[in-house]
Amino acid sequence: MDEFEIIDRYFLRGSYPTGVVVGISDDGAVIENPAGEETVLATDTLVESVHFPVGTNALDLGHKSLAVNLSDLAAMGAVPRWALLNLVLPQADDDWISQFSLGFMSLADEYDVVLIGGDTCRGPLCITVTVVGTLPAGTAITRGGARPGDQIWISGSLGDASIGLGIVQAGVDPADPDEVWLMRRLNAPQPRVTLGCSLRGLASAAIDLSDGLLADLGHILHYSGGLGAVLEVSLLPVSPAALAVCGQRAARSSALAGGDDYELCFTVPRRHEAEIEALEKQQDHQITKIGEVCADEGIQLTGPDSKHYNVTGAGHLHNWPDGG
Ligand code: ADP
Ligand code: MG
Repeated sequence: MDEFEIIDRYFLRGSYPTGVVVGISDDGAVIENPAGEETVLATDTLVESVHFPVGTNALDLGHKSLAVNLSDLAAMGAVPRWALLNLVLPQADDDWISQFSLGFMSLADEYDVVLIGGDTCRGPLCITVTVVGTLPAGTAITRGGARPGDQIWISGSLGDASIGLGIVQAGVDPADPDEVWLMRRLNAPQPRVTLGCSLRGLASAAIDLSDGLLADLGHILHYSGGLGAVLEVSLLPVSPAALAVCGQRAARSSALAGGDDYELCFTVPRRHEAEIEALEKQQDHQITKIGEVCADEGIQLTGPDSKHYNVTGAGHLHNWPDGG
C-alpha cells in the first residue's frame, strides 16, 4: 500500500462542509475565516516509546492523538474546526491503519472537526496532529490572566492517567473494573471542549493538564506575573477508582503530580463563581474548586493532611544529554 492508497482509503471523505474551500488533494488546504473570529492553532506529537508504549492499540492512539490537540484548543476556549495529520509509519499494516483512522475520525466527527490535510511517510511510528479552532476576536483564554484572589477550578478527576500508566507498565491485563477504567483514562482521554468554550468571558486563565497539576498550574502562575497558589488537599478531585486501587494518599499524590489527564485547570475571579457553579450542571463531569491564587510565589498545600505531600514535583519534561 502506498501513501496515496492510505489517504484515499482511510482519510478522504466524499465531500467537505462549507468553510473548506480546498481539502485533501492539493498542495495546501484552503479554509474560509469566519467573520469577526480569530484563529487558534495548536499542534502536538506522540512518539512511540516516549508518549506511548510499543503495542498501544491503534484505535486508542487515533483517538488520543486528536484528543490531546482538542484539549489544547479547549484550554484556549476555541471551537475546534479543522485538523492536519502527519503520520510516520514503520509499515503499512491494514488493520493498524484502519483502527487508527477509526479512532481519529470518530472523535473528529463527534466534534465536527474536518481533516483537511497532512503528510504520510515511512519511518519510526510518530503521529503529529495540528488543529485549527476559532473564537470571537479578543476572547481567547490564555495562561497569563490570573490575578491574586482568583479561585482555582479543575474539571473531572486528577491522577487517573498516571495510575493507569502504572497498570500498563505492570504488563498484566487487569481484571478489576477500576483498573480497566483507569487505563481508559490514560488511553482515551475526553477533551473538555464544551467546558473550554463556556469559560470564555468567565475564566481569567486556563491550561490543560498534560504534565501534572503542580507543573501546569505553575505555568499559569508564572505567565500571570509570578504569582502563587494555595491548594486545599482534601478538595483535590480524585476518582472512586483511584481511591479503590491505590488508597487516598497515593491517589492525592497522583492528582498533584501525575500527568496525561487532559482535564482543564482554570482560574476564575470571585464575581463569576455562581456562573461556574451553574456551568457544572450542564457538563457530564464534575468541576471542583480546589484553591486560590495568591500574590506570594510558590504553591502551598493546606488542610489537615497536607504535610504528607510535597510540591516539588516538576512534572514531565523532555531532556537531552548535553551535546559533545
Ligand atoms: P505534497 O506532494 O504536497 O507533499 P502529499 O502528496 O504529501 O502532498 O499529500 C497529498 C494530499 O494528501 C495533500 O492534500 C495532503 O495534505 C494530504 N495528506 C497526506 N497525508 C495525509 C494524512 N495522513 N491525513 C490527511 N491528509 C493527508
Ligand atoms: Mg507532502
